[in-house]
This record gives sequence, structure tokens and C-alpha cells, in this order.
Amino acid sequence: MPEHEAQYEAQVDVAVVGAGLAGLVCAQRLRQAGLRVILLEKSRGLGGRLATRRLAGTCADHGVRCLEVQGALTALLIPKLVEQNLLQPWLTQLTVVEAGQARSAHRACHSAINGLTAVAKWLAADLEIWSGQRLQQIAQAGTRWQLTLEAQNSAAQPPLLASAVVMAIPAPQALTLLEPLAAQLPDLIQAIQEVEFAPCLTVIASYTASAELPPPAVQFLDDANLAWISLESSKGRDPQIPTLIVQSSSAFAVQHLESNDLKSADGLLLHQAVAALNLPRWLEQPAELQVHRWRYGFVSQPLAAQYLSQSKPLPLVCAGDWCGGSNIEAALASGLAAAAETIRLLERSAEPLLEVSSAEFSSLLEQIAQP
Ligand SMILES: Cc1cc2nc3c(=O)[nH]c(=O)nc-3n(C[C@H](O)[C@H](O)[C@H](O)COP(=O)(O)OP(=O)(O)OC[C@H]3O[C@@H](n4cnc5c(N)ncnc54)[C@H](O)[C@@H]3O)c2cc1C
Repeated sequence: MPEHEAQYEAQVDVAVVGAGLAGLVCAQRLRQAGLRVILLEKSRGLGGRLATRRLAGTCADHGVRCLEVQGALTALLIPKLVEQNLLQPWLTQLTVVEAGQARSAHRACHSAINGLTAVAKWLAADLEIWSGQRLQQIAQAGTRWQLTLEAQNSAAQPPLLASAVVMAIPAPQALTLLEPLAAQLPDLIQAIQEVEFAPCLTVIASYTASAELPPPAVQFLDDANLAWISLESSKGRDPQIPTLIVQSSSAFAVQHLESNDLKSADGLLLHQAVAALNLPRWLEQPAELQVHRWRYGFVSQPLAAQYLSQSKPLPLVCAGDWCGGSNIEAALASGLAAAAETIRLLERSAEPLLEVSSAEFSSLLEQIAQP
């Protein structure tokens, strides 16, 4: 080992940044290909925007509300998770309110009794994960990337060396980290700059009153401030603790995101939700009221490609839902494609990347499921 590398605690083939769905499947695919992979995650928990908030006696999914078949990959993932007893059907009556008119329909959704982060934990099996470690800086150190990390509530890790890096984080966050390398990565930076995200605010309200709540499981609203409302306690959780999620529109979030007084924004959203759905007024006085800011909530302008990559100065790949879409299916497809591209770059293969098949995803899920 060259002397200047001796101070580094870990040297890996690939550092995957971001333990959302894209990063998790990417890291699994790379690990199953025999590479040494470390998955870096700035939060303590896994799953990114697939997120569950623990509340007194219950929980609420304040990110992804449920899993639905959106394409070939979710069509494979959902039955596998049902087989593992992690998901169950959530018979949702989806009501769409448009121009004051309500239309109801049943949709085949799946939820998890103890919260959807169970899905991320399952996908994380056998991965080496450094959670609570934010990637602060990435720079070239000879033939490797050097990653400087900022630890939360623990001793900082020494920098990490990796032969390749996959950035599986929202485009604006990737841009901040990669901008210092703009001279070496001009095309990649330009492509990331074209991607746009919209924010949203999520209000989580729980009650101790044991009354049954009247609204159907999910209501989508045609409203300037509100996007949808979901009755979390209908996901097979303790009905004695009714819990509502109220999701703001992106326009409302843009107005209130930087506010120091989110309490008034969450109270306003809850008040409007109760009024819009004609719900009992006591719902405006929850036992617990929390709000989550999603600065990068939804992709409003995605890239056409499933990943971005450069081989020089060193292998670097970008992935996430914003590569090719804006939902879970896109995040999974991008994570898989990014893994295949990383392998191609490490092998210095001149062959263009073939489309990743759903059979590969199926075999990846089989391997995770094996005890
Ligand atoms: C409120 C809400 C509801 C949604 N509902 C649905 C739904 O019902 N159906 C659907 O299909 N989609 C839904 N989506 C979209 C869905 O959540 C995303 O498409 C998908 O989860 C994106 O996964 P990802 O892995 O690309 O990114 P993310 O989930 O954002 O993962 C990125 C990860 O990177 C980490 N990270 C960022 N910067 C750093 C850093 N510097 N160092 C280390 N780690 C870092 C983050 O903490 C995060 O864990 C919803 C989104 C929101 C916000």
C-alpha cells in the first residue's frame, strides 16, 4: 500500500452515496457481483424518501405512502415482500377531489404494519452501511476517489478511498458535491443542472380519541395548498390511535419551506384538510402534531437517461429517481442500471451497457431472501 494511503481506514471498490431505494439496490447488485461496497447515508435510518416516523404507540409513513405496481421492477418487488410478510394489501379507497367533485376508486396498494422503512431494511441485508455519515467532499487522490465524511453524533470517520463512486442522491445535492470538480466533469454537471425538484411539507397528526375516522384511506385534492391526505391508522395499525398525514402542494411548500415558524404552516394545512374533507372539527386538535420538510420531495423535471456516468478522471456514476422518472420504479431501475454501469467502468469494458433485465432484479431479490 502506498504510504500516503496508510492513514485511510477503509478502501473499497465502490462507495455508494445515499441509502434510498436507488442506492440500496445498486449496492446490493455490486455486492452480489463480488465487489467490496460501502453504502454511505447521512441519516440514521435507511430508505430516504421512503420514510416512517415513530409516534407514541404507532407510526406513520411520511414519505412514500404505499407501494403500487408501476412497472416490471415493482411488479417483482411487491410479491417478494408480501412473501416475506413485510407487506400486506392496503385496500385503499382512493378519492380524487377535482373542481369540488369527488370520484372514488379502489386501487391495489400495499403497506407495512410497522412502516414502509421495513422495505429498506430488508433490501439492506448484508450490506456494509455507514449511517449518520454525510459525504461532505469528494476529490481525486491518485487512482482513487477520496471521500470526506461528516459524522452526526459520533466520532468522524477518516476519509474513505474508493475506486468508483455512485451518487444515489437527489440531483441538487449531487450538484453541490460535484461542482468543485466542474472542470473535469463539465457534461455531467450540465446534465444534472437540467433536473428540477419540487419541495413539499408533510404534516403528521395523531389522536388519542378512539373514534373511527370517516375519510377513506387516501384523498387526492384539487387544492392550491393541499396535495393529499392519508389515514395512516387504516394500514392495520392500532385503530385507537388515529393518525393522519396531510401532504402540502409544492406551491405551499415553496412559500413556507424556509419559515422558522412551521408550527403555523402545519396548523394551517391541518385546518384546511379538515375543512376540505368536511371532517369533525376535533381533528384540528391532535395529541401530537409534527411536520417534515422535504426540500427535494418530488422530481418535476427528470433526465431521460437511467444514469449519468464518466470514466475520467475516475469512474463516477449518478443515479436516483430523477434519472428516468420520478417514482419508486424509476429509483429501482436507475439503481440497477448504475450498478451495471459501474461494473462496466471498473472492468474498463468498451462494450456499451445493455439494458438491465428484470430477470437480474428477480435474482437479486432471491439472493436477499435467502437466509
Ligand atoms: C412525501 C412523499 C411521498 C411520496 N410518495 C410516493 C408514492 O406513493 N409512490 C412513489 O412511487 N413515489 C413516491 N414518492 C417519491 C419516492 O419517494 C422517490 O421516487 C424514491 O423514494 C426516490 O428514491 P431515491 O433512492 O432515488 O432517493 P432518496 O430516497 O431521496 O434517497 C437518497 C438518500 O441519500 C441520502 N443523502 C443525501 N445526501 C447525502 C450525502 N451528502 N451523504 C450521504 N447521504 C446522503 C439521503 O439522506 C437519502 O437517504 C414520494 C416522495 C415524497 C417526498
